[in-house]
Amino acid sequence: MTAFPITRAASLKAPPPDSSLKFGTVFTDHMFMMTYESGRGWFDPRIEPYHPLSLDPATCVLHYAQAVFDGLKAFRGADGVIRIFRPDRHARRLNHSCERLCIPALDAALVEQSFHALVGLERRWVPKLPGTALYIRPTVIATEPFLGVRPAESYLYYVILSPVGAYYPEGMNPVKILASERHVRALPGGLGAAKTAANYAASLYPAEEAHHLGFTQVLYLDGAEHRFLEEVGTMNIMMKIDGVVVTPPLAGSILAGVTRDSVLTLLKDWGIKVEERPITIDEVVAAIAAGRLEEMWGTGTAAVISPVGELGYKGARHVIQGGGIGALTERLYDAIIGIQYGTGPDPHGWARPVAAPVTEPA
Ligand SMILES: *Cc1c(COP(=O)(O)O)cnc(C)c1O
Repeated sequence: MTAFPITRAASLKAPPPDSSLKFGTVFTDHMFMMTYESGRGWFDPRIEPYHPLSLDPATCVLHYAQAVFDGLKAFRGADGVIRIFRPDRHARRLNHSCERLCIPALDAALVEQSFHALVGLERRWVPKLPGTALYIRPTVIATEPFLGVRPAESYLYYVILSPVGAYYPEGMNPVKILASERHVRALPGGLGAAKTAANYAASLYPAEEAHHLGFTQVLYLDGAEHRFLEEVGTMNIMMKIDGVVVTPPLAGSILAGVTRDSVLTLLKDWGIKVEERPITIDEVVAAIAAGRLEEMWGTGTAAVISPVGELGYKGARHVIQGGGIGALTERLYDAIIGIQYGTGPDPHGWARPVAAPVTEPA
């Protein structure tokens, strides 16, 4: 593996107790950085002390959101081994997002190595309590100071790490979701398939509205007809109808979740029928009413699997599975958690062990 130059932090912070961890509020001692300039390409990969960025007020990312990111996790196994879940996939997706935002492609292998090198250096920050993890946030921003609308000529790639608490400290908890009749997340031909800042800005208003009505997440419908299911918050959506798992296809306006792919792969391994096809909200409501919709869940890195207990649509509230958790939902969750913490079989080699750096005490 490539050894990157490291500038060490003058003093090290004390990680907070595992039981106090939430999401994305605490950061480790170091960050990975790499610079791009047109004519030179990507250069100077390095690890530096975690520090604020100094940006000219005209820096284009602050005005036009030429930015992409990704999100993945490292886990401390019961055996003490630290594993990163599917880093190759996340590196590839980062490049896919870059392409849509006119950001010069990164070397995907180097991106993957940047995760390993930084997590290896910061291994004391990987929490131990069951359900906790070290969240990895690779980000690319346009750094050129200019106000014209065109792709920038300079960029910064950086990776920061944040120890995060268990998503379900008291066990899996079904969420209530609201299908939005008015707001959309992305349109065909737009940015929906990229993990880019603008998509999340677009989601804030509808999410606030849903919270005021007592729902946890927004179920987005398609932008053209407001009929077809797209995604739920920052998760992909799936459900089991008449014994078949159905999920919307990757048709350009939804994000290709790594958890989505992992779940679909496991279901196929288990011989469970999967359909990636357009699903209308009317079909879902009718299937719930007829008792044919057995389970519904969201998939994403943060929660892995998030059972849906209630669906709001046009002022009505439809309760799913008596508001409880389905057997397949539970089985999928357990299988993926087992892979991540090294306690169960990993038939596809998704969990990649992080090598201890020779110079760093564990
Ligand atoms: C990140 C994200 C997902 C889930 O992707 P994972 O790779 O499974 O974490 C789904 N939808 C949106 C909009 C996202 O941003």
